[in-house]
Amino acid sequence: MISKLAKSLAPYVPGEQLNDRRYIKLNTNESPYPPSPAVKAALDAFDYRQLRLYSDPEAAELRAAIAEANGVTPDMVMAGGGSDEILTCAFMAFFDAGDNIFYPDITYGFYPVLSRLFRLNPQTPPLDGALRADIDDYMRADGHIVTANPNAPTGIALAPSEIERVLAADGRRLFIADEAYIDFTEDKSCAPLLKKYDNLLIIRTYSKSHNLAGMRLGYALGAPALIDALRRVKNSFNPYNLDRVSIAAGAAAILDAPYLRETAAKIIKTREDTRLGLEKLGFEVLPSEANFLFARREGISGGQLYRTLRENGVLVRYFDKPRVSDFIRISIGTPADMSRVLEILKECEEYQ
Ligand SMILES: *Cc1c(COP(=O)(O)O)cnc(C)c1O
Repeated sequence: MISKLAKSLAPYVPGEQLNDRRYIKLNTNESPYPPSPAVKAALDAFDYRQLRLYSDPEAAELRAAIAEANGVTPDMVMAGGGSDEILTCAFMAFFDAGDNIFYPDITYGFYPVLSRLFRLNPQTPPLDGALRADIDDYMRADGHIVTANPNAPTGIALAPSEIERVLAADGRRLFIADEAYIDFTEDKSCAPLLKKYDNLLIIRTYSKSHNLAGMRLGYALGAPALIDALRRVKNSFNPYNLDRVSIAAGAAAILDAPYLRETAAKIIKTREDTRLGLEKLGFEVLPSEANFLFARREGISGGQLYRTLRENGVLVRYFDKPRVSDFIRISIGTPADMSRVLEILKECEEYQ
């Protein structure tokens, strides 16, 4: 009964959601802070009786808010149920089976999963020894490119000026910049390039810097022709992709820019404090501009670090893959969460 396609899939593995005890959960890059008070106000004002009616397939209210927050027009915005849904639409809108797709060998795990689902032909230029991307690998690419910027799980960002070289080199080649963590960087967004280039698609999520992972909201910014292609795909499998509650909450959240900046700034501060703490314990920490740190300590495997933290009530992630298996990825929680992490890692050093 099962299709060859379904049998061949290698689905995405999310961070664990363990319930056997209370954990400090630092394994899926969620925010430690609640959504904006404007979201609460929107939810309180929401009339549940409206749920009798289908939602707006164009999500006009939400797209207008996203457009305003980003200084673009609504025809340059597509909204979806998490950026994973937007990415899925993009894979269908811009690739045919057998097409090349370029992404780094170490990056967000959803790209290989989707490449398999849509039978694409992945080309994966390796990150260098410092786990940085070499932009020249993409200058030569004969196919569209997708990358997280900052990259995951390294947290390292490319400069928009480097990405601009790729955009300018070939206007028929699409560059998809997945800016899930962009609010934790300093000026690394490609958004200013949207005015100049029609071959740039930016994808953003509400799950990290908007403190709304539980709501499932994401969006794309790009030239109207690209957005129209995404909309055609979306309307071919889930026209009412966003519910009425998400549309209202999403509009309220993005218009509260001061709150978003304030929580992102707190997380950046905690990230830098944690970096220093880890370095004092002898860890090598990559120069992350995201809401997580990717770190390793000589003589201990990523698996060991992960298990030690879990036994002590903290969940982080490690990736049992060549070149990164010594690292753990620690999402940035509250300052108290991070003190606990450092305390556990310090003890584990003392037993060595
Ligand atoms: C978390 C993450 C996403 C997924 O975000 P959702 O909006 O929750 O689907 C997409 N891309 C990257 C790089 C991420 O880290």
